[in-house]
Amino acid sequence: MYKISYEEIVKKIKEEKKLSDKEIEEKVNNKISQLNNLVSKDGAAYIVANDLGIKIFDLNKKRFKINELMIGMTSMEVLVKLVQKNEVREFKKENREGKVQNLLIGDDTGAMRLVVWDETQINSLQEVKEGDLLLISNGYVRDNNGFKEIHLNKSSSFVVNPKDETLGDVLVNIQRKLQRKQIKDLQIGDNVSLSGTIVQLFEPKFYNACPECSKKLGVEGDKYKCDVHGIVKENITPILNLFFDDSTENIRIVAFRDNVASILKISSEEVIKLKDDINKFTEVREKVMGSQIIINGKVVKNEMFDRLEFIANSVEDINVKDSVDELLSKLK
Ligand SMILES: [Zn+2]
Repeated sequence: MYKISYEEIVKKIKEEKKLSDKEIEEKVNNKISQLNNLVSKDGAAYIVANDLGIKIFDLNKKRFKINELMIGMTSMEVLVKLVQKNEVREFKKENREGKVQNLLIGDDTGAMRLVVWDETQINSLQEVKEGDLLLISNGYVRDNNGFKEIHLNKSSSFVVNPKDETLGDVLVNIQRKLQRKQIKDLQIGDNVSLSGTIVQLFEPKFYNACPECSKKLGVEGDKYKCDVHGIVKENITPILNLFFDDSTENIRIVAFRDNVASILKISSEEVIKLKDDINKFTEVREKVMGSQIIINGKVVKNEMFDRLEFIANSVEDINVKDSVDELLSKLK
């Protein structure tokens, strides 16, 4: 079964029925109450689309654009351009060992990761250069912490620079336009994108910030005061420290405000609630530890500890939506 997010379903409904966001939202909310709140928002949107006669999944289609790919698709075909090739890695698991290569690929609708497991295919990829076209057949789409990835296995194949095929520029979103760097190569002042795994996560701390300039507030009597803006109403602001590892090295990451919520995959309100609820934090930590994300930001030097740290500016959207599977199990 495919997984499709609320936003994707809404986009389809908008395209095909020319309804506004508001109209769609209304239909979805009606559907939810009709079904006595038993369905998720995604699930309800899926049903609304169905009611409107919109085919969310066109099963006869074979070739897709990157922004049309959905988790769970198999045997699909895509024409992509190679953006970046990462080194071949060897892996060892309980009863399996082998090689894997990750590549960044894209078309004129987006970019994503391609993961290749078959050694013969990996070998033939060594000839492929950045900018070359790949026509991939029989790939499958998997979810990796909210990111879609195309995986190839033994029954998948690709043709390099297929005849009579062309492709426009790869649409790479703004965040990914930042240079990707490995942690071992980071230098003070770098403004880059890191891709790695959360390996340690500390309890968030909170401070009172000025709503105007976000600076830390001092106390005056029972009021809070900003050096620049005077007496203000305090904004409770979270700071999160974590260790991030990209297999070349690890680095301490410091995240503030919305980025804390993105990393913890909860809302900003829920982050504030963690202030007085250590059990809840333990629960959240368990969910988030080990997850792979992309963090964009800046390398700074922590003078006190004489080490490099990374200040997060943004985190790639990693919301994993309720799946259609879940909807179906709720309706049974
Ligand atoms: Zn201020």
